[in-house]
Amino acid sequence: MSAIVFISSIDRTEQQLWLTRLKLILPGETVLLPDMFSAAQAAEVDIAIVANPDPKLLQNFPNLVWVQSLWAGVETLAPIIQQHNQQREAANQLQLVKLLDPQLADTMAEAVLAWTLYLHRNMPQYALQQGQKLWRPLPCARAQETRVTVLGVGALGLASIKVLLQQNYKVSCWSRRKKSISSANSFSSLEHLPLALEQTDILINLLPLTPETKGLLNKPLLSNLPVGAKLINFSRGPVVDYTALLELLDSGKMSHAVLDVFEQEPLTSSSPLWGHPQISILPHISAPTNMLTASQIVADNILQYRANKVLPTTVDLNRGY
Ligand code: NAP
Repeated sequence: MSAIVFISSIDRTEQQLWLTRLKLILPGETVLLPDMFSAAQAAEVDIAIVANPDPKLLQNFPNLVWVQSLWAGVETLAPIIQQHNQQREAANQLQLVKLLDPQLADTMAEAVLAWTLYLHRNMPQYALQQGQKLWRPLPCARAQETRVTVLGVGALGLASIKVLLQQNYKVSCWSRRKKSISSANSFSSLEHLPLALEQTDILINLLPLTPETKGLLNKPLLSNLPVGAKLINFSRGPVVDYTALLELLDSGKMSHAVLDVFEQEPLTSSSPLWGHPQISILPHISAPTNMLTASQIVADNILQYRANKVLPTTVDLNRGY
């Protein structure tokens, strides 16, 4: 049995923690860094565990069967793997597995609820009022009158919808294929997205970044939101046109945005987003990978593959998620 290669651009300390953890829970496997393989040994490797890998390093392992990402977002990896596959036979395509961890979904749902409550209960306005020593109660609709729309009903979107429903929000969702979720209104297809936005007080983006979703939330589309609507972007920065968002906030059409993700991270100090009073900035923390639970998911995937050659659920590389 060949060793597994661990390819990442995370810092050395974190990388070492991952290797130690994987060694502990996969005692029958050897997990090594790329420079620890000779060319002959590299040719034997069938599994790679990766976190933002250098594409050139992946090419040193020509007979990989599948790549396990430690992250849920695969917008950078999917095109790399597709490119890699252009040099391979159709029957021998490299497969990509993204992190599917219920803990990650719970963490995202927790963040969605926290920041939905923040917006619903007017906390940005109260923070501004405190700065002005202004004692002014603001109107606040009940949760059941507050319309929250979740874009993307994957593992993270679905978990978020469930906690929003438990909190009595009036929930809608939008995805490629229509969903059947008790008590939530489901929209699908681009054609129906404006209608979904027209009925939205708080819009939550959990769509993956793909060629189809890049720039999707542009000015014409966001303009369908009612006056005063709010946005939470927890998926990837480029799904939303932030220049358009700034215009809509400045014009009073939208009232606040909570942004966790950006085209360039860390966000550059010159970005106008930092100082905007109607924007809350988070440093990509809504749902970090949890090493304890994620490593167990990765280990289970590997053990299942070793036992019966069955691959975990793989990414549709053409769709990009
Ligand atoms: P997922 O399981 O792949 O689900 C994606 C959802 O988006 C699906 O419901 C899919 O529709 C829908 N979708 C994709 N393209 C679409 C399109 N063109 N039109 C309409 N719907 C479309 O994704 P996930 O695991 O829930 O993760 C979502 C994203 O969260 C990740 O891609 C990543 O970018 C982000 N993320 C962020 C953090 C953070 O800390 N900020 C952490 C983890 C992940 P169907 O169901 O019909 O296929």
